[in-house]
Amino acid sequence: MPPTSFSEPVWQRPAQASFHTPLEHGEESDVAIVGAGILGLSTGLHAARYGLSVRIVEAKGLGEGASGLNGGQVIPGLKYDPDKLLELFGEARGEALVGFAASTADKVFGLIRDEKLDVPYCRNGWIHAAHTGTALRAAESRDRQWRARGADAVLLDAAEIARLTGAKTYLGGWLDRRAGTIDPLSFTLELARIASAAGVRIAGNTRARALRSEAGLWRLTTEAGMELRAKSLVVATNAYTDALIPGLAETIVPLHSFQIATARLSPDRLETILPGGHAVSDSRRILVYYRRGPDGRLVLGGRGRMAPPRSPKDWLHLERAMLRLYPALSGVPIEKRWFGRVAMTPDHLPHVHEPQPRLLAVVGCQGRGVGLMTALGERIAAYLAGGDPKSIPFPLTPVRPIPLHGFRQIGVAAASTWYRMLDAFER
Ligand SMILES: Cc1cc2nc3c(=O)[nH]c(=O)nc-3n(C[C@H](O)[C@H](O)[C@H](O)COP(=O)(O)OP(=O)(O)OC[C@H]3O[C@@H](n4cnc5c(N)ncnc54)[C@H](O)[C@@H]3O)c2cc1C
Repeated sequence: MPPTSFSEPVWQRPAQASFHTPLEHGEESDVAIVGAGILGLSTGLHAARYGLSVRIVEAKGLGEGASGLNGGQVIPGLKYDPDKLLELFGEARGEALVGFAASTADKVFGLIRDEKLDVPYCRNGWIHAAHTGTALRAAESRDRQWRARGADAVLLDAAEIARLTGAKTYLGGWLDRRAGTIDPLSFTLELARIASAAGVRIAGNTRARALRSEAGLWRLTTEAGMELRAKSLVVATNAYTDALIPGLAETIVPLHSFQIATARLSPDRLETILPGGHAVSDSRRILVYYRRGPDGRLVLGGRGRMAPPRSPKDWLHLERAMLRLYPALSGVPIEKRWFGRVAMTPDHLPHVHEPQPRLLAVVGCQGRGVGLMTALGERIAAYLAGGDPKSIPFPLTPVRPIPLHGFRQIGVAAASTWYRMLDAFER
């Protein structure tokens, strides 16, 4: 077993009352949700505000899934830029998706403001940092497309990006001012608090083990043998999806994202390292992403090994990446190391499935789910409350397992090596 510090993120827990409501055998509700990450909680919150009764079951403690472990970068948009979304989905759904994608960061910061959530945040923007000419041209195209739609964004040249990041390695980049950073653990727990205040009953440490449909109701059985019934069921388990819905786990490739946080940086270092508090992702295929964390630490993340980590050495590649960006941090201790799972899909888009009527499942955030899942939860709740399926911006698709899914580890290892090579050679 790794030492506990491996599983402890640097994020904070807000002071809060307990909102755990243990499940009672035979409970019935309008909506049952499996998974209390951002998606489950946002769906539950909005469904309750539509007047539906909601029960959420979560296998672990609250905030122990990706939602409490992530990098806290709140970035609007999807993997694809607007023109590509129109090409993939056609004019009507494409425009709806672009509008939705543009709104996701607003949803997070809007909730924090309107609900007075106790969540540390900074909305100064996200920089997509280009390390090659190819990446710079992609940034120019992205800038054109989003600014044509009114986005508050700007291209950065090499001098500007060096000033904003304190790193000298980039050719330029793109600053999206709609984005920002939050403390993701606080955000998840605060979502749970307001969902609970809206009437949502949340049971932690309660794993759903089986589900079946009977007499027009979904019946969900937990590991402890309790049963609950609901008119609609939402499986919000994302990268931690198990065998609850046959084939669902085989629709995604779960990967590990690892993170490190330095000790507090001295005031003189903070004058040059991310002085404006921006979030950054670089443009490499095997990317690193970083931001300032609590108390003036640098928090940096990137891909990690799929087997559970055994020692701090498993995070060394991130320490090396950090020193390439900021040689002045040599000797600064790394105080926290942690990791979580992200779910990738072959088409790089989130998937919303409705394999049977009133059974929904959402997977695949490609490591960018904070804004996305906050906004999507609201749309799913609208649908559950009797709204048009089109209130969900993504098509509702059947569950289609990836062929040869059992060989995914080999595929991931081969793809990672290939991408590292492309990253090293591309100009
Ligand atoms: C290290 C890391 C860094 C990331 N950085 C960013 C970032 O900076 N910005 C960004 O936008 N995104 C980031 N992401 C992605 C983001 O965290 C996720 O996309 C998002 O949190 C997904 O939310 P969710 O509610 O869908 O899933 P989760 O938060 O993972 O929730 C799913 C929950 O389902 C529960 N569950 C699973 N099976 C069962 C069951 N059978 N019964 C009951 N409960 C079950 C799990 O315990 C889990 O808590 C990062 C992810 C990781 C891991």
